[in-house]
Amino acid sequence: MNNINDLLKELGVDLAPYSGNQIHSVSPINGLILASLRADNSAHVASKIGSAHAAYLQWREIPAPRRGELVRLFGDELRTHKAALGQLVTLEAGKILQEGLGEVQEMIDICDFAVGLSRQLYGLTIASERPGHRMMEQWHPVGVVGVISAFNFPVAVWAWNAALAFVCGNSVTWKPSEKTPLTAIAIHSLFMKAVARFGSDAPAGLAELIIGNSDAGIAMVDDRRVPVVSATGSTRMGRDVAQRCATRLSRTILELGGNNAMTVAPSADIEMALRGITFSAVGTAGQRCTTLRRLFVHDSVYDTVVPRLKKIYAGLPIGSPLEKSTLIGPLIDANAFSAMQEALNTAKSEKGKVFGGERAKVEGCTDGYYVHPALVEMPTQTASMHHETFAPILYIVRYTDLDQAIAWNNEVPQGLSSSIFTTDVREAEKFMCDSGSDCGIANVNIGPSGAEIGGAFGGEKDTGGGRESGSDAWKAYMRRSTNTINYSHSLPLAQGISFDF
Ligand code: NAD
Repeated sequence: MNNINDLLKELGVDLAPYSGNQIHSVSPINGLILASLRADNSAHVASKIGSAHAAYLQWREIPAPRRGELVRLFGDELRTHKAALGQLVTLEAGKILQEGLGEVQEMIDICDFAVGLSRQLYGLTIASERPGHRMMEQWHPVGVVGVISAFNFPVAVWAWNAALAFVCGNSVTWKPSEKTPLTAIAIHSLFMKAVARFGSDAPAGLAELIIGNSDAGIAMVDDRRVPVVSATGSTRMGRDVAQRCATRLSRTILELGGNNAMTVAPSADIEMALRGITFSAVGTAGQRCTTLRRLFVHDSVYDTVVPRLKKIYAGLPIGSPLEKSTLIGPLIDANAFSAMQEALNTAKSEKGKVFGGERAKVEGCTDGYYVHPALVEMPTQTASMHHETFAPILYIVRYTDLDQAIAWNNEVPQGLSSSIFTTDVREAEKFMCDSGSDCGIANVNIGPSGAEIGGAFGGEKDTGGGRESGSDAWKAYMRRSTNTINYSHSLPLAQGISFDF
């Protein structure tokens, strides 16, 4: 079922309340407009945040395990509609169907995680220095969580945030990418189905959706009723959001640009490395924050790895992401194609040898921007390699000394993901130790992309420092209160201070 109207119907989406002519959902597959929608203005944004705030005041009174039940029901809806939702992601974001379905699975996984978490929002009990006293920490809901998301993970990023935020007792206001509004509307409609099944203790306004451009995002970021802003997208956007939130001292969770590297060491399992490189570099047509963009190959294996990689690249099936055989779908739009060509020209001016990178013709998709993924052999790590170009360009540099490869890994402003292929335990540990990779993610014998939800996801430096998803990332969606309880009959002061009167 590839027809947009059939898909929307199956997902229970009614576009009537959203219809307009300001935001156009354009399919990257063929450049056709899927839907035209109205944009929320600042008054709409303020009103939605108002209802989200009112919802929070009620929702925080509901016991956390009961809040988890709503997330469980939402996970059920996702399971039921996985196929349709995966296809909608493919139609609107252009990723191949396997990856569209994978993105929905990621949402289901984080819902499962959050349901368990709803019974595990643990605080500590702390030894007090005073007799007859006890100290403890409690975690409380924080308020409206504002989520801004990027086009390349149009649904999963919201779920990483929202599933945790809901069980933590918050409401959520979401400003999705203006390039992928339909998937957001579909998620909202599925969430409302879960709310209807849950019952009346889920207040109206618990999940609000803002459709609009960056100005709608800015209106949300500037609203004092939003104590936590979780923003996923470019570093340029994150810098603006961080500065705005700093002026009102609100919290941010920033998930920004990546510029991820892999080191292939002399002892690497070359077959595994080639598979890891290929998926990480060309998956989602190079449009993942964790996409492999820089490859450091040891001199002793360079002349084995690089020719093999060129052969693999030459045979990769490029085409409509709806076709089962396709592994590389389109870029998001014409701007992405121009940025790719510009980056390749710069690489040539830095003495890079470019293999691939041209526009690819796909029958029936003339207005889609399909490309042959590019390999660029560089003489060393050059200035242009410090930038993230959101396209399938893999720069390759030869190295002789692991310290040099780690230094290159860390030299760029971004710090999201990294990996090493080695069977030498000393090299693996060195890569992960205090003086090793400076990224939020450092993997051994897998590529830098394709994280599981169980770990905390995010990166350092220009990637923003935020952590989402698993581990203890939930703490960013709650406020911590430290309680000291005196059950004695006297009032001793801490640090033995005497204050007699
Ligand atoms: P983008 O920055 O252009 O847009 C992202 C979102 O931010 C959109 O919803 C947009 O409307 C909004 N926005 C833009 N400017 C804003 C502002 N000043 N204030 C508030 N909101 C604003 O990014 P994109 O092109 O959609 O996505 C690609 C980028 O996202 C890449 O850099 C990629 O690495 C990054 N990304 C990072 C992660 C991560 O987890 N680190 C995940 C996905 C994507």
